[in-house]
Amino acid sequence: MKITMIGAGYVGLVSGVCFADFGHDVICLDKDERKIEALKQGQIPIFEPGLDHLVASNVASGRLSFTTDLKSAVAESDVIFIAVGTPSRRGDGHADLSYVHAASREIASNLTGFTVVVTKSTVPVGTGDEVERIIRETNPEADVAVVSNPEFLREGAAIEDFKRPDRIVVGLNGNDQRAREVMTEVYRPLYLNQAPLVFTTRRTSELIKYAGNAFLAMKITFINEMADLCEKVGADVQDVARGIGLDGRIGSKFLHAGPGYGGSCFPKDTLALVKTAQDYDSPVRLVETTVAINDNRKRAMGRKVITAAGGDVRGRKIAVLGLTFKPNTDDMRDSPAIAIVQTLQDAGAKVTGYDPEGVENARKLIEGLDYAADPYDAAADADALVIVTEWNEFRALDFARLKTVMKTPLLVDLRNIYRRDEVARHGFGYASIGRPD
Ligand code: NAD
Repeated sequence: MKITMIGAGYVGLVSGVCFADFGHDVICLDKDERKIEALKQGQIPIFEPGLDHLVASNVASGRLSFTTDLKSAVAESDVIFIAVGTPSRRGDGHADLSYVHAASREIASNLTGFTVVVTKSTVPVGTGDEVERIIRETNPEADVAVVSNPEFLREGAAIEDFKRPDRIVVGLNGNDQRAREVMTEVYRPLYLNQAPLVFTTRRTSELIKYAGNAFLAMKITFINEMADLCEKVGADVQDVARGIGLDGRIGSKFLHAGPGYGGSCFPKDTLALVKTAQDYDSPVRLVETTVAINDNRKRAMGRKVITAAGGDVRGRKIAVLGLTFKPNTDDMRDSPAIAIVQTLQDAGAKVTGYDPEGVENARKLIEGLDYAADPYDAAADADALVIVTEWNEFRALDFARLKTVMKTPLLVDLRNIYRRDEVARHGFGYASIGRPD
């Protein structure tokens, strides 16, 4: 199959490279010329484990190329994936579909022969209808099927997720056999590996993606509230999570209490689902509440640090380890670290951060933060060390060394990666999430 991927970001680049690795001919297209130029030079514009090798081997095999030239890429393609961003729209929280609509218009006038246009971006119910309308309006002659195929990969494990998905969801307009055959062919290598291919209607497919993300966000928020209750009643949230997670009906994943969910998907997708549901007079109150709880939680985590540090951090130095919304990515979008750092700065603290991969993006999103070269550099003269993101390199900190450089030996562990007794043994004060003193 000849595939064009519109948008070479976290999803478009990973999906495009994996499709090439399956044996398809793939062109990754982006309107960001610097991104495409870098890719042509063999530089990967994002941090995603394993991506550099996979790109290099597929470019070498001749199955993967990069371009900004939409016209020729689209004309040659059997399948065109739209994988552009759908951020929250400023002001009202609806998904901003301007990039999807623009891409649809650009594609439309260059289509030749039967082409399947696939929305891989996360888009609200009805977007496929609008994409189809735009294409037919722009190019009434086009022989096109518009299909929904939401992506479920996680940053940090994106290649593995793409190649071994729990399921592939494809939403068709009616019972379009031609589109069904093309999509089956696109995913044949995975299908042969027994990944369930779930065919459904286009609107259902669009909603599946939001329902999935909202459910996971709710699960995280549920355990976060249990953690708060644990702190009040003297219970241990990790045992609660294990005790309920072993129940097969509940499952152990997404039951790690922490500073609140962040990232490029859950915050914007939960909000967009709330807005869609309100528009259809069918409010999703559980999700509305989840959004509100999570919004409050991030600053509450900043206040937790202040309390642990004795209640007044004015003029004191706080070190923050981990800035990205989770480990193994450089993605800073909606990371809890942003609100936590701001809360500490608002209280007058001087904050120094360290992150293995996120600093470049953090600089664009957090003002007034000093950056350190490593955890010990960050901790120098600090009155508290805060773990916000659980990168592996923070799991075995040298506490003896930290104690010699810190002003006050205090660890605030917002990811529960340490045990109180092991930290206390080194003479450190310790605060964590939902575990008894
Ligand atoms: P991203 O911002 O990393 O990438 C989007 C890319 O699209 C950018 O490089 C941008 O320059 C390009 N672009 C925008 N308009 C274009 C156009 N008209 N022509 C060509 N290129 C264009 O975004 P992302 O994180 O990859 O997310 C893309 C979509 O996938 C979103 O809808 C998101 O919700 C969804 N999604 C993301 C993830 C994730 O983990 N990041 C997971 C599942 C689904």
